[in-house]
Amino acid sequence: MNISRNVIIVFSLVTIIIVMPVVSAQITSPELSILPGIDNNVLSVNTLLKIENVDTVTVNDNHDPLIGNLKCGEEVNTVIAAERIIEKCGTRIPTDNEIVQAQKEAAQKQALISQQALAVSSVNVPVYFHVINNGEGIENGDIPESQIIDQMDVLNNAYPSTYTFSLAGIDRTTNSVWYMAGPGTRAESGMKTTLRKGGADALNIYTNNMGGGLLGWATFPWDYEKKPNMDGVVILYSSLPGGEAEPYNLGDTATHEIGHWVGLFHTFQGGCTPTNDYVSDTPAERSPAYGCPEGRDSCTNKKFPGLDPIYNFMDYTNDSCMNHFTEGQASRMTDMWVYRLKP
Ligand SMILES: [Zn+2]
Repeated sequence: MNISRNVIIVFSLVTIIIVMPVVSAQITSPELSILPGIDNNVLSVNTLLKIENVDTVTVNDNHDPLIGNLKCGEEVNTVIAAERIIEKCGTRIPTDNEIVQAQKEAAQKQALISQQALAVSSVNVPVYFHVINNGEGIENGDIPESQIIDQMDVLNNAYPSTYTFSLAGIDRTTNSVWYMAGPGTRAESGMKTTLRKGGADALNIYTNNMGGGLLGWATFPWDYEKKPNMDGVVILYSSLPGGEAEPYNLGDTATHEIGHWVGLFHTFQGGCTPTNDYVSDTPAERSPAYGCPEGRDSCTNKKFPGLDPIYNFMDYTNDSCMNHFTEGQASRMTDMWVYRLKP
């Protein structure tokens, strides 16, 4: 399958708007030539979104610095350049307020929980795999057990040694609606409510063919109390090791989504701001990185030292590029695990 990556396009605003890809290491598709039906100097983002099927268009000025974000429906009449943001992960973006509240609440929970429970130095996570398929065969998402076992190995190698993921069960469901379930849909709700197993500390992984260019999405630990049935991660079936979603087929979509499940944010959360992703040892990053752009530094202000964390599991780079969580992220995981402990 083809999943598009970062494409920088320049709009030449003459009588006919010509759009051509300028910078991209690995454009796969779609490559733009001319946007049909646009013949004046007013470009609607709706039109762009419709044509390109993308969620966000960020307008920038000579590529850098960015000059603002356009919302769907906003009209653009002075576009010089635009960067297409492909949403790889459908996990919702929490507000700063939500994050601060969740951190406060975690601290309160830690105060209530027994020191014995908190002192546990290792966490064993039971993992339930729910394979949603559209019929028999891998072409219908009915992935073999061998890929699931390989996925478990990827997780156990990726996470700090304090975490052990143990396969607790695999079930298979043929359901054409759940097979296409996206984030926030009734299909997602039906699928999870029917299939979820275990308590707050059980990891439920659903594999399906969600569409929309997404590779997966997850819930956060502090979501569990209100909506226990919705807890878990959903990943594209072809993102498992050996799947067809190249270059996202080494199993790190699951690594990334489970990162959210244990309380981490994208490394580009918050952009070039002091709080950024609420982890102090991941340098600030303006926007997602795609491919493996070595040396990328999108927050150039001296206030934000360090190159972009493109090798981090919580960025959007290729699976072959991402290889670690930081100590700060590991520490945040531990802090947030309190949401998954019994008081
Ligand atoms: Zn994500």
